[in-house]
Amino acid sequence: LLEVEALGRTFGSGKRTLQAVKGVTFSLAPGEIVAVVGESGSGKSTLARLILRLLSPTQGQMRLEGRDVFRIPLRAYWRMVQAVFQDPYSSFNQFYSVRRLLQKSLGLLGPLSSQEREARIRTALQSVGLEPEGILGKYPHQLSGGQRQRVMIARAIMLRPRLLITDEPTSALDASLRATVLNLLKDLRQEQGTSIIFITHDIGQAYYLSDRILVMHQGEVVEEGPVERVVEQSQHPYTKRLLSDVP
Ligand code: ATP
Ligand code: MG
Repeated sequence: LLEVEALGRTFGSGKRTLQAVKGVTFSLAPGEIVAVVGESGSGKSTLARLILRLLSPTQGQMRLEGRDVFRIPLRAYWRMVQAVFQDPYSSFNQFYSVRRLLQKSLGLLGPLSSQEREARIRTALQSVGLEPEGILGKYPHQLSGGQRQRVMIARAIMLRPRLLITDEPTSALDASLRATVLNLLKDLRQEQGTSIIFITHDIGQAYYLSDRILVMHQGEVVEEGPVERVVEQSQHPYTKRLLSDVP
């Protein structure tokens, strides 16, 4: 589905240059779930923004279903590739109610009947455990962190993307909602064949959900492989350290 080749992003210039992402290469098959783990600052969110095309790379290439990603018009690209970000507050327009936000996003799909729109919105909210009646009229400042995060998840899955990137999607959720979201992602792959790039600090979640793990360290992928192999016989010193921190 997706091929990422030697992808890189540099910030700043001269002495202040920082290579946040360096030579990242991997591919993702349809319906595959790949976890990206790594410590804070290792480049995970930058990689997510590059793949979503919110940020342009300074090096490298990407292909989606064989097509050069940068030749696909953005709206068409975002119909296929969606994301749920770490800090849901930054993704909200303060002046939009939840209903308006979700309707705006559905606009990406072109004209839909009002019944179809309403049905998609309700189903998506219910699948993340939100009661549509209670939430549709609310504004961002009236929602809890966990509600905001779930609205963003509903927004992304409502579009039925082929690839979903989730950046710490459960960071604002309690244990029971965290399990709900992980299972929701599993079902999404099962029912719609959605491919998922699952970014997390939590190697336990990566183990539970993903087929393959990429370990990032200082902007580079230092280890990649099937979950069991990476967890049981890690090769890179950084991965060993990461695993030894698991309680
Ligand atoms: P965390 O686990 O804390 O979310 P991360 O792995 O997602 O960390 P990134 O957000 O990708 O890390 O950041 C990687 C590096 O790039 C950091 O050193 C960060 O300060 C830097 N960086 C990210 N975005 C920018 C930017 N827009 N301008 C300058 N530097 C940036
Ligand atoms: Mg991040």
